[in-house]
Amino acid sequence: MNYISTRGGIAPISFTEAVMMGLATDGGLLLPTSFPEISDTQLTAWRTLSYPELAFEVISLFATDIPRADLRELVNKSYATFDHPEVTPLVQQGDIHIMELFHGPTLAFKDVALQFLGNVFEYLLRQSGGQMNILGATSGDTGSAAIYGVRGKERINIFILHPHKRVSRIQELQMTTVLDENVHNLAIEGTFDDGQAIVKAIFNDLDFKEKYQLGAINSINWARIVAQVVYYIYAALQLTSKGAEQVDFSVPTGNFGDIFAGYIARRLLPGHIRRLVLATNENDLLSRFVNEGEYSLRKVVQTSSPSMDIQLASNFERFLYFLYDEDSARTKEAMEQFSASGRLQFTAAEQEKISQQFLSRSVDQLQTKETIADFYSQYGYILDPHTAVGVKAGQDMRQDGVPMVCLSTAHPAKFGEAVTQAIGREPELPESFVGLGQRLSRCQVVPAEQARIKAAIEESGLR
Ligand SMILES: *Cc1c(COP(=O)(O)O)cnc(C)c1O
Repeated sequence: MNYISTRGGIAPISFTEAVMMGLATDGGLLLPTSFPEISDTQLTAWRTLSYPELAFEVISLFATDIPRADLRELVNKSYATFDHPEVTPLVQQGDIHIMELFHGPTLAFKDVALQFLGNVFEYLLRQSGGQMNILGATSGDTGSAAIYGVRGKERINIFILHPHKRVSRIQELQMTTVLDENVHNLAIEGTFDDGQAIVKAIFNDLDFKEKYQLGAINSINWARIVAQVVYYIYAALQLTSKGAEQVDFSVPTGNFGDIFAGYIARRLLPGHIRRLVLATNENDLLSRFVNEGEYSLRKVVQTSSPSMDIQLASNFERFLYFLYDEDSARTKEAMEQFSASGRLQFTAAEQEKISQQFLSRSVDQLQTKETIADFYSQYGYILDPHTAVGVKAGQDMRQDGVPMVCLSTAHPAKFGEAVTQAIGREPELPESFVGLGQRLSRCQVVPAEQARIKAAIEESGLR
């Protein structure tokens, strides 16, 4: 399986090269040149597999240059850190199926991809003899999942910038109580945007990037997408084995990474997945895209589901490439036009194509709060605010006879404040959170200056 760029500017590369490249060198995103066909025999065999076994089968279709025995080990190791035997269990509440993606070490769905990516990085660096300093900025969730993905790993250091005192207490503690020597928490005296701007500037300093072998861990890495394809297939096979013909999924969306994995799963399992419901909060760029055929930037507003407070959906270009029938010249032109004008408009024919695959709803904070409250009073089940956005959209779009699977992207205790406001009591802390505040922590508070961050990397980075 080879990989190319959405913008057509690179020669085909292998899976492992794509993982190490992250963003394509021509500024585009990496995609496989073709999709494997899954035979009926294969599908029948997949229905009886455990999550790690299925993950191995699905990922091996894409990671063709990692020897099978090695890949199996990487996959098993990645999902052994989850605290549920099914890794991503389905639980039915009324006429909704909740797929719980929060059983990993940081209690959010990003663990599914980042546990795997961390192991793949370590494996590839051991083979090449190289080293890597991962640098990233976080508003909370990605940072902790990335830290847990690489803590204690050889040949990898990680530097995560978070805005000092502007992430939740639990998010801060999840990051700063990781004491492994290769983990460096930098709390910057500024905002998340300041952090992102610094990271971007440092990556643009090509000499520095080269000297310190800087690596990124953001949601555009193909290995992350591929790891997320697995749970869509896992859920679709479970429900179709029980008699459903087709399944719908509702996905709380920010960067379009998770739902793009659903799009890939839909291509791999023709006929099994009917529609993907793209659920957004008030930051509704992608809802307007699906419903009105317009992709245009607006100001980011802060909501109770902060991991979806995003206007620029970094994985969107991947879908655009397929919408434009794999025409890389056209994709490149559209992305250039978008960065100049902040706006793209789609034709009626394109809109028709979009609506055959996606439905969409934007759910505001009041509806989110009501959904958490209603779900709790009806079923005694507590939704986190991100999940609630997806559940509300899923309830609105559900059709009789087609099971609606709503992806639960975070444990409610991670966003306890919003949950408490909705149900009048605090969600119970999972075991791994108990006593977090009493643990030792390590974090360096630094001014939001590029030079200070570079100095931190120069001081403790691998070379
Ligand atoms: C990252 C995140 C999302 C959004 O996922 P995307 O892949 O960016 O669309 C939703 N919910 C939670 C809890 C997240 O951390």
